[in-house]
Amino acid sequence: MNIVLLGKPGAGKGYVSDYLKNKYGFVHISTGELCRKSIKENTELGKLVDEYISRGNLVPSNIILEMLKQELSKNQGKNIILDGFPRTIDQAEALQSIVNVDVVIEVDVPDSLILKRIAGRRVCPTCSKVYSRNDAPSGICLNCNIKLVARKDDDVNIAKQRLKTYETETKPLIDYYKDKIIKLDNSGAFKDTIFAIDSIAKGVLKLGETL
Ligand code: AMP
Repeated sequence: MNIVLLGKPGAGKGYVSDYLKNKYGFVHISTGELCRKSIKENTELGKLVDEYISRGNLVPSNIILEMLKQELSKNQGKNIILDGFPRTIDQAEALQSIVNVDVVIEVDVPDSLILKRIAGRRVCPTCSKVYSRNDAPSGICLNCNIKLVARKDDDVNIAKQRLKTYETETKPLIDYYKDKIIKLDNSGAFKDTIFAIDSIAKGVLKLGETL
């Protein structure tokens, strides 16, 4: 089964993906994470990718598609969550010729919460685990025991640009996928989100837990 996660930057796609991965055995493919990995490796490709990300713009689709295809080929036959791909109608059309999308989950959070969440988000520079302000008040990664950092593109001005990019480029996908879309409200407490994910996983997708 292949699931696409849609949602604004900061809506919690990573959190939902992690939960589905740990509880239901999905493979999580995040194109944002693949981009950050290439930046960390400081390759020529990484430097190019950084120019787009650090302005809050989308990385050209041909680059992203290449990264995605490599990941998909490593995970053939597995249940996959695509987090952050597609982000444009063109990418959705390209995806259609590579894999079948079974379900699209739109992670929904009101605008009023988004910038606040982005401002509080911290990430482990080693294992890339993402924390909200409440998850790790000490500012230390619970897995690696090292200091968490803010993502460069979570700076408020870059985040605003990313939200604009979402509105113009990505939001039209909600209509594109209208027959496959399920809305997931992630505006409340974690326990409410978890309850909503489990309801979708067990009730709609008929999945069993792998824990
Ligand atoms: P994310 O971690 O999903 O918020 O992605 C971080 C950044 O990576 C985005 O703001 C884009 O610059 C880039 N990116 C991730 N996925 C894509 C994609 N499908 N198409 C273009 N750029 C992407």
